Amino acid sequence: MTYDEMRIRQAWPYEVKIAHAKRVAEEFIDKVYAGIEYGGNKGNKYQAHNVHISVGGLDSITLLLFLRKYFPDVEIPAISRSALEDKSIQVIHKQLGVQSIPGAKTKVSILRDYGFPVISKAKAAKIEKLQSLNEKTTFIHAIMTGDMGAQGNFEHSEKIKLPDKWIELFGGLHADHRPDLKCQCAPFKVSAQCCYWLKELPADEWAKAHNSVPFLGLMASEGGQREMGLTKNGCNYFGKETVRSCPFAVFTRQDLLQLALDLDVPVPKIYGEIVRDSDGTLRTTRAQRTGCAMCGFGIHMEKRPHRFDRLREDNLKEWEFWMYRCVTDPETGERYGWGRVLDYLGIEWEGLPGALPGQITLEGVL
Ligand code: SF4
Repeated sequence: MTYDEMRIRQAWPYEVKIAHAKRVAEEFIDKVYAGIEYGGNKGNKYQAHNVHISVGGLDSITLLLFLRKYFPDVEIPAISRSALEDKSIQVIHKQLGVQSIPGAKTKVSILRDYGFPVISKAKAAKIEKLQSLNEKTTFIHAIMTGDMGAQGNFEHSEKIKLPDKWIELFGGLHADHRPDLKCQCAPFKVSAQCCYWLKELPADEWAKAHNSVPFLGLMASEGGQREMGLTKNGCNYFGKETVRSCPFAVFTRQDLLQLALDLDVPVPKIYGEIVRDSDGTLRTTRAQRTGCAMCGFGIHMEKRPHRFDRLREDNLKEWEFWMYRCVTDPETGERYGWGRVLDYLGIEWEGLPGALPGQITLEGVL
């Protein structure tokens, strides 16, 4: 699919998209039930003749109820790394009989050993390289300037380059590549590896152990890498290493919320309620989207009250642990947490939302 074709599908009427989603799911089930083989690039081959659904927040909870409604006779186990989700999402998972699978590592060990997931997956991966002295110089130069060197035919790529504001905050080890900027080193590590250890690897291992491939509740309208992947690979993807179905790929947020209403989906408390504004637009009254609780991806774009504020509201003790002392600084032995990360990125968190900076702090409410 091209981006233009995706836009055309996203403009289809709601009923057409629902019919399309049913067709996508049906084709996937039929093909997998006939038996498929994938893998091979890395030397391993896997068989699959089962399907399952990987469940997280509202989007995939809605997909779960959609599949249960339209394919009642097909066995589609629901699995999740529930422990990573907000408590209110975990409650709904339990209600719906979603099976919780364990992670490959703990979240604390990932923050400590690899670093904090901030900004976005793609940018965190580049920052991780900037924080290392072992990366190839040509790659560092490309990230810091966009100039690709001989390997890239001396082309310039704004896509590969990190925006200057992040280079200034994280490029200190390689400042000589950008003498025009005041590059600093952050007092914490950044990494994009969290999703792999916490979500992707456990789900992958479960799938292989059960000869199964997943349904996912991803939508291209979420943008970023999801849009790119769904546009390039389509709703059903039978790749060399990956096989998956995304029946909601062409949905907008409005379609998803409308379907959640139509299916009477139980909405986890973190989202609030689904309401319709006077212009007909549907929205949730609290979080619009959720990832794992205490994830930094996208936090720099979120208005207050942001996800860290919501955790504070829902569970002060947990919030305090993650903000102040979830990891230990290897150099000073000092305990620190997301508070240090957010301070460095210039994101307010300690004063209550709506307060003037410094006016009301945690000490004031404890
Ligand atoms: S969404 Fe965030 S916290 Fe969750 S696994 Fe991915 S990086 Fe980690």
